[in-house]
Amino acid sequence: MNIYLTFDYELFFGENTGTVQDCLINPTAQLFSFAKQKDVHYTFFVDVGFLIAAEKYPELNNDLNLVKNQVNEMVALGHDVQLHIHPHWEKATWDKVWSMNINESYKLSDFPQDELVAIVRKYKTYLDELIGKETFVFRAGGWCIQPFSLLKNVFLELGITIDSTVFPGGYLQTKDYDVNFLKAPKKSKYQFENDVCEEVENGSFTEYSIASYRYFPSFYWWLYGLGRIFPKRHKMLGKGNFISQGGRKWSALTSFSDYHVSTDGYFAKKLEASLQKAINLEHEEFVTIGHPKSCSVYSLIKTKQFIDKYHLVHHFKTFDRN
Ligand SMILES: [Zn+2]
Repeated sequence: MNIYLTFDYELFFGENTGTVQDCLINPTAQLFSFAKQKDVHYTFFVDVGFLIAAEKYPELNNDLNLVKNQVNEMVALGHDVQLHIHPHWEKATWDKVWSMNINESYKLSDFPQDELVAIVRKYKTYLDELIGKETFVFRAGGWCIQPFSLLKNVFLELGITIDSTVFPGGYLQTKDYDVNFLKAPKKSKYQFENDVCEEVENGSFTEYSIASYRYFPSFYWWLYGLGRIFPKRHKMLGKGNFISQGGRKWSALTSFSDYHVSTDGYFAKKLEASLQKAINLEHEEFVTIGHPKSCSVYSLIKTKQFIDKYHLVHHFKTFDRN
């Protein structure tokens, strides 16, 4: 199995973004150490919008330099750095804290076509210049990549040929989110052209789906309960707030749901079971999603155990080392 441990490297976008130190620097440093010990590498999808927004405020210079240095350290350590876009940073302003205007700017499709194209060009150019490499893999902020036809031409222009946003069976429709992967091929890798959920042989783009897992309500009762009972072990290290996912929390507590395989928090409990499921399905790729900000003491232990147990059994890969 080819295993891709991927992390979306970003702050929170709710009322409280959390700090650069807690959400990014410290948990990422711990992830680095696990990888180094076993010579495995990760893919980091770097939220460039934050960096571009922070450039406008001299008082954020220190934070900005910490993050830029860590992104360069990723590359120096052999990790893969690729493009992650949360376009609402376009409308974020800083005055002691970040104020975010998520409304009608959370996803790229909220912007007029010319602005959308300009954002993708600007963010990719910024990241490529920062790391001194050409990025070619994309993950949409909040998994909002639909309709893909809006992005197709600018991706072709910029040489973005791989996407890793889809988790088959995923569905999240709220005023901010527009995610519908119910029809996505139940494959770990496929090619597509105009629609990320429709396989097209010899299509211009390749989807490396994030692995999906069927979580039962009892899982979420533990997930929400453990953070309260054992906060030191189970609370997220990045102390910020997510934006609302509408009724997803309640529906997850009451009925089974397909969601992505993740190294975040209590989700890390299912890493091994999910890998076994992917092996049973004869998938060739196993892509996990995680966020340094959502790591907990528990999830870091689980992630390290996963690497220690499987680094000689499976291939831990990145996109630029294929
Ligand atoms: Zn993100």
